[in-house]
Amino acid sequence: MELDKDANNASVSDGADMRMFWRKLWKMQIPQKIRHFAWRAARDILPTKANLRLRHVLMDDVCEECGATAETFIHLFWECQRARETWSSFKNFRVLVRTHFRSFMDFLWFVLMEADWSNEDSAMAVSLVWTLWTHRNEVRHGGMRKNGRELFLRCQHYMEEHWAALILPLKHPQSLDSKWSPPQLPFYKANVDGVVFGKQKEAGVGVVIRDHEGNFIAGLSKKFKAPLGATEVEAKAFETGISFAKEVGI
Ligand SMILES: [Zn+2]
Repeated sequence: MELDKDANNASVSDGADMRMFWRKLWKMQIPQKIRHFAWRAARDILPTKANLRLRHVLMDDVCEECGATAETFIHLFWECQRARETWSSFKNFRVLVRTHFRSFMDFLWFVLMEADWSNEDSAMAVSLVWTLWTHRNEVRHGGMRKNGRELFLRCQHYMEEHWAALILPLKHPQSLDSKWSPPQLPFYKANVDGVVFGKQKEAGVGVVIRDHEGNFIAGLSKKFKAPLGATEVEAKAFETGISFAKEVGI
C-alpha cells in the first residue's frame, strides 16, 4: 500500500508500517474519553474557532489563549504560547515544539513511530493534547486559566491514576472480587503492589486507595531506575503507598 504523503500528512511508506501504527494506537493505555477525543481530532472535526468560522457559526476566530492569530487546530496544540509552554514542561516533549505538524495524524505518527518513547510517554503526549483542549473549553466557560506546567502536572496526575487502576485489578483479580474487603467507615484501604523489570534494571510500584464502599479514591504508579529484588520492591511499594496516602490527605 502506498499512501500519498501530502494527502494524509503521515510519512507512510508501506502496509507493515501502517499496521504497526494502528496496533500501537489501539494498545495505547489511555482512558476511553481521550481515545474518543483522539478519534475526533484525527478526523479534524473538533469545534476549534477556525472550524466554527468556516461553518459560519462564529465571526471571530482569534485564539483566546494568546489573541495573536486564528485558533486553528495546529495553532492551539503546537504553535500557541500555552501549548509550547506545556510541551516544554517535560524534556522528552520539547522536540514537539520544534517539529512542524500539519495534522493530528502527523503528530500521532511521530509519537508512535518516530519518537522512540516509552508507552507511558506516548500515552502522556496524546493525553496532553486532550488536556489542552479541555483547558481551552474551561477557559471559554469562565474557568481559571492555568499555565503550561500546571496543565502538564494535571495531565500526569490523571494518567497515573488511570494506569494504577489498570494495573492492580489485572494482577490480582481475586483480591478485588472474593478476597478484597472494604475498610470500615471512616477508614480507607490502600492496596499496593510491586513488579520487577529485571532486564531493564527497573522496578514499578502501584497504589490504589479505596473507601468503605470500594470506590476508587486515588491511585498512582511509579517506575524506579534501580535493580531491586522482589522483597525490596514489595517494601518500596508499601513505603510508596504510605507516603502517597499522606500526600492525598488520608
Ligand atoms: Zn494562541
